Amino acid sequence: MDTEKEDEDDASVQEYVARSDFPGGGGGGGTGTGTGTDQLAFSTGDRLLVHAKPSAEWWWAELRGVVGYVPASYLRRDAAEEEEGEEEEISLQDPWQDEEYFDNYGTLRLHLEMLSDRSRTETYRQVVLKNSASLRNKVVMDLGCGTGIISLFCAQLAKPSTVYAVEASSMADYTRQLVKQNACEEVVTVLQGRAEEIELPEQVDVLVSEWMGNCLLFEFMVESVLLARDRWLRDGGTMWPSSAALSLVPCQADSYYSEKMAFWERPYGLDFTPLQPLAQKEFFAKPKFSHLIEPNDCLAAPRDVIRMDMYTLQVRDLEEMRSEFSFGVERSGVFHGFTAWFTVHFESLEAGGATLELDTGPNSEPTHWKQTLFMLDQPVGVHAGDAISGSIALRRNPTWRRHMTVTLHWNIKSSMEDTDDYQVGTKTFPMWR
Ligand code: SAH
Repeated sequence: MDTEKEDEDDASVQEYVARSDFPGGGGGGGTGTGTGTDQLAFSTGDRLLVHAKPSAEWWWAELRGVVGYVPASYLRRDAAEEEEGEEEEISLQDPWQDEEYFDNYGTLRLHLEMLSDRSRTETYRQVVLKNSASLRNKVVMDLGCGTGIISLFCAQLAKPSTVYAVEASSMADYTRQLVKQNACEEVVTVLQGRAEEIELPEQVDVLVSEWMGNCLLFEFMVESVLLARDRWLRDGGTMWPSSAALSLVPCQADSYYSEKMAFWERPYGLDFTPLQPLAQKEFFAKPKFSHLIEPNDCLAAPRDVIRMDMYTLQVRDLEEMRSEFSFGVERSGVFHGFTAWFTVHFESLEAGGATLELDTGPNSEPTHWKQTLFMLDQPVGVHAGDAISGSIALRRNPTWRRHMTVTLHWNIKSSMEDTDDYQVGTKTFPMWR
């Protein structure tokens, strides 16, 4: 649930201060949330007058006499004006929401889901198995070991000298028992604590972690991995995964569209279309996690839009990742949205060994991440030969550090003769804040 109360008192103008720069024009989206052209750009420290809060994410505000939409998460109340209550409550909250985050990993639900995901877990097992000779006598850190599964693979399938299994949640108590139960305590040392805060007696040769979230970055556990890399990985050490990529494809999503939007056209013979704008806000404003796209729903060949090298990536790079794309439509159909997923690669330590990969896309075995669907507000009919180009930007929420927005901008160039049809659109999806 959002902690911010909406529409508290729309009639009165309230002063807010910008927490960080907002370039505007990048495309807000959806009904009532602002489009690129009616967004207001501002800089850190600017004082904005908020006139209305039409949604939790986008407010209507004024800066130096100019009005426009602004992202609510970029603003905070002016300290002088701050009343007791809501805003103070937010500032006292942890922007990482670690308590909630680690509480979740202290229960079995997520671990069961992850361990039941065979393609995920088996990939890590294969990585250890295929590199077992090179892992001999190596020092390994398993960052966010959860139940310790990767550490146990290391201890059982290879002969590392030590595995430091680091886990911040209370699951670590059980992990210690599992290590003992499986007779791996000579090799695996469980350290309970945040990876950013733990101390190791030595640097490590290999830093392995399963840190990926929806749309690759969501939850931003990757930041902890990068900080641990800079502190604990020895020069020339190995990162697993070694690289990652986010893939994107324009797609059809017929059944989801019918279920959530077309439904209102004629339920029980009645015209319920006035509810469609509400349906758009409620079902299409945020991405749909857990979408399983059929290969046939891809309107074009998927492209890697973001690539991350785990050796050189910096924490500051995570603030904004953007790229352009261009797809050639290969089959006629309805363009309902974009689907995204990720692939990670594990380089081999063995001479001539093959790189292993975990691909969470539609052409591989489904994983618990499934894929992420971003619905356009209006479907568009497209034909084979049309071109869909545009850009994607993943922007980390300046306040809520595990969250981000994904802004998609697209234009469709028709290939049909006698038309100059050119449609453009833009939409920003909070994930989740
Ligand atoms: N490696 C396990 C669990 C992966 S889920 C497996 O593959 O099954 C990620 C785990 O990392 C969670 O258990 C979470 O509590 C832990 N984690 C996330 N960030 C962390 C941090 N900064 N320090 C320590 N543990 C962390």
